[in-house]
Amino acid sequence: MSESKRVLIVGGVAGGASCAARLRRLDESAEIVLFDRGPFVSFANCGLPYYVGKVIKEESDLLVASPEMFEKNFNIAVRTHSDVVSIDREKQEIEVKEVQSGNTYRERYDVLVLAPGASPVKPPIPGIDSLGIHILRTIPDSNRIREWIEEKTPERAVVVGGGFIGLEMTENLANLGLKVTLIEMLPQLLPPLDPEMAEPLTRHIEKKGVAVELDDAVTAFEETDDGSLVVKTKSGRSHPADQVILAIGVKPETALAKAAGLELGEAGGIRVDNSMRTSDPNIFAVGDVIEVRDGVTGVWCHAPLAGPANRQGRIAAASIAGRDMTFRGVQGTTICGCLGVTAAATGANEKRLRQAGVTDYEKVYLHPGSHAGYYPGAKRIHIKLLFSKTDGKVLGAQAVGETGVDKRIDAFAIAIQGGATVFDLEEAELCYAPQYGAAKDPVNLAGMIAANVLRGDLPLADWSQIEETDALLLDVRDPKEYHSDHIDGAINIPMFELRKRFEELPKDREIWVNCAIGQRSYYAARFLLQNGFRVRELSGGIITYWGHYPI
Ligand SMILES: Cc1cc2nc3c(=O)[nH]c(=O)nc-3n(C[C@H](O)[C@H](O)[C@H](O)COP(=O)(O)OP(=O)(O)OC[C@H]3O[C@@H](n4cnc5c(N)ncnc54)[C@H](O)[C@@H]3O)c2cc1C
Repeated sequence: MSESKRVLIVGGVAGGASCAARLRRLDESAEIVLFDRGPFVSFANCGLPYYVGKVIKEESDLLVASPEMFEKNFNIAVRTHSDVVSIDREKQEIEVKEVQSGNTYRERYDVLVLAPGASPVKPPIPGIDSLGIHILRTIPDSNRIREWIEEKTPERAVVVGGGFIGLEMTENLANLGLKVTLIEMLPQLLPPLDPEMAEPLTRHIEKKGVAVELDDAVTAFEETDDGSLVVKTKSGRSHPADQVILAIGVKPETALAKAAGLELGEAGGIRVDNSMRTSDPNIFAVGDVIEVRDGVTGVWCHAPLAGPANRQGRIAAASIAGRDMTFRGVQGTTICGCLGVTAAATGANEKRLRQAGVTDYEKVYLHPGSHAGYYPGAKRIHIKLLFSKTDGKVLGAQAVGETGVDKRIDAFAIAIQGGATVFDLEEAELCYAPQYGAAKDPVNLAGMIAANVLRGDLPLADWSQIEETDALLLDVRDPKEYHSDHIDGAINIPMFELRKRFEELPKDREIWVNCAIGQRSYYAARFLLQNGFRVRELSGGIITYWGHYPI
């Protein structure tokens, strides 16, 4: 019988724990030891904001699996409070420091898996270590925030960072009754979205009472005599706070790997191959510590998400067990809820396509109902779909709304992974009953609109060119809608009068047609095109142009 393989895993949460459990299912003979410097393994980091907000009541609810369970069910040894401080690649050993005693010891490995995650970014801003400034990564972090709230009963919180952790903390603090100011350095919230898609989210949470400060960076935290804080920003503003949450991003924990001379990549993470192997064939790395290929653009990036970390853990386990399984890259499928609005995205956004130098893309906007309009309770979902102009391949999708956002983005995510085109979306057979969807589901509609564009049935105009264009702007909404607000210079012929009045329009000048959401303008464009006019449609209607997305 061959000797059993000794597999040591550093980091016992999403990537590490899933690797350990999967490896045991594939290889009963391996000796598996899981190390984590914290007091827990396999806890739900994604639940932490909701534990702070007391939606999740008990700490124990966050524990997906205990060390005892790993030992008993899977014969996996777990060592918590055990910080792995160095790797000796030549001897194939790691050095472990017991956090509580300070003692160190060495352990030999045949295979080492690095899954240490990513740590919150904490830039050297004056006052950043002041009391009352919290980060959120671990259960102890969340307990510190809960204790602060219980003991100090803060009334005003500043959340720094408008990514998904910042937004989730904003929701939970607001629901606990705190007045929240959310400060973001970029001109938009939630970077996985393009700016115009983040706009409705911003407006919505402002309506719910959150003060959103965009395009402004924190320059200092000052402690006041009464024990509170003042958050100073680049624009010269001062925001008083009884508590600050710092959520300005994470960076891969690469110190161990770097010291051991493993190859790091251009996005700052450990570089691995498709089977999660590092530049050392005996060392694998998974999760937030690695960099990955963007599945759409092929660019290396850092994508700290739980789904990819779990999948990578499984793939590393398969490779260690001698199986052939390859990682497909990350398409960045994310979702975030904040105070009643949901925003989600998958694949590339327009910003990323541009950064990657991709020019072969087109975009459409649509604002369909979450389910059939005749059944009560439908809410609009605002969707942006990006696809290849050449072959119609779906490149990315973003959606914002109150309900039904998740299942549409999941459908787009599968389409992207499978290399589907907008013609496939058009034909996708999706479940429908009036309370769930529509016979033409928003996913089908997105495909139909995009396919219309590619077939030449619906030439598109670009909203960003509207100030410069010489085209005649034609608004086909009803006169009441037109008079309440319209694009400067647009004339109005309502859709219902177009068949009688189309001769008023010029044939020697391009016409850009718009309505409220893009439906009537599509009808108008089809009618005019078939009557010999040169027409382009402004996709998504005037609510796309003004970002007035009703939620
Ligand atoms: C508050 C919060 C909310 C989130 N919400 C979502 C969400 O809704 N959806 C989503 O997709 N993702 C979410 N994420 C991200 C997701 O949790 C991570 O992408 C995922 O956990 C990464 O898994 P990992 O195994 O790489 O690292 P982690 O889960 O961070 O685990 C790394 C572990 O390694 C330990 N460790 C590090 N270095 C050492 C060392 N030298 N020795 C021993 N142990 C070490 C750490 O203590 C840690 O326990 C959230 C993250 C946070 C913090």
